[in-house]
Amino acid sequence: MPELPEVEVTRRGVAPHIEGRTVHQVVLRREGLRWPFPAQLPQLLAGHQVLRTGRRGKYLLLHFDHGTLIIHLGMSGHLRIMPSDIEPEKHDHFDLVVATPDGLRVLRMKDPRRFGAVLWHDAADGLLEHHTLLRELGVEPLEAGFSGKLLYDQTRQRSAPVKQVLLAGDIVVGVGNIYASESLFRAGINPKTPAKRISLARYDKLAQAVREILAEAIVQGGSTLRDFISVNGQSGYFQQTYFVYDRAGVPCKVCAAPIRQIKQGQRSTFYCVNCQK
Ligand SMILES: [Zn+2]
Repeated sequence: MPELPEVEVTRRGVAPHIEGRTVHQVVLRREGLRWPFPAQLPQLLAGHQVLRTGRRGKYLLLHFDHGTLIIHLGMSGHLRIMPSDIEPEKHDHFDLVVATPDGLRVLRMKDPRRFGAVLWHDAADGLLEHHTLLRELGVEPLEAGFSGKLLYDQTRQRSAPVKQVLLAGDIVVGVGNIYASESLFRAGINPKTPAKRISLARYDKLAQAVREILAEAIVQGGSTLRDFISVNGQSGYFQQTYFVYDRAGVPCKVCAAPIRQIKQGQRSTFYCVNCQK
């Protein structure tokens, strides 16, 4: 599943091809994905310029003068840029065709499992931050508002395990299952620890670990940027090297104890009993 780094790499990959471009056409090849596509989208966007791209959590944002296109990649969504005469393949559900000096280009969304979303927020409906999908989101982990102090202050009443609290997304967004396990390992915190029992000093370490790990993943993913403009490329999702995630039973890279796998709220958590207290 694409997590925050993949979405950010996707944004950086497609941005140079669509920012400042005028929409020539929108093609919808089915009624919708997780939710119906806005039926008027082709008429709404044709002739309007993509002013800039943005991201909030795992939502990719295309800002127009009259509103914002909100794209979520769901479980299996990919975006690619290609010439407009490339025939769509199976699962290519959505095209945003833009005019460039070199001819028409397509931002094409493939989503085999169809948990993704393409939605429209009209500027007339108020602030984007108040959109149903965005208003409950916590702070951005790579922006200034995120700190150990924030984690500490927001967890004084929370008995849930710290991993669950990270995943919940109401304090900080974008720390998905992989990055929660990896960040807790780097910070030396046992994922089962009740969130309210963790000290400010340890939360400072955790916030630092979250920032570093997400930033490293974005850098690593950046090396795949060329795939966004190749027709056959596997755009965006990158295999990374992990310390604990998906390494059950494998020796810890630090202490050689076997990595343990447990279930927390239906999700797998991986950790080292020696390195994480
Ligand atoms: Zn270890």
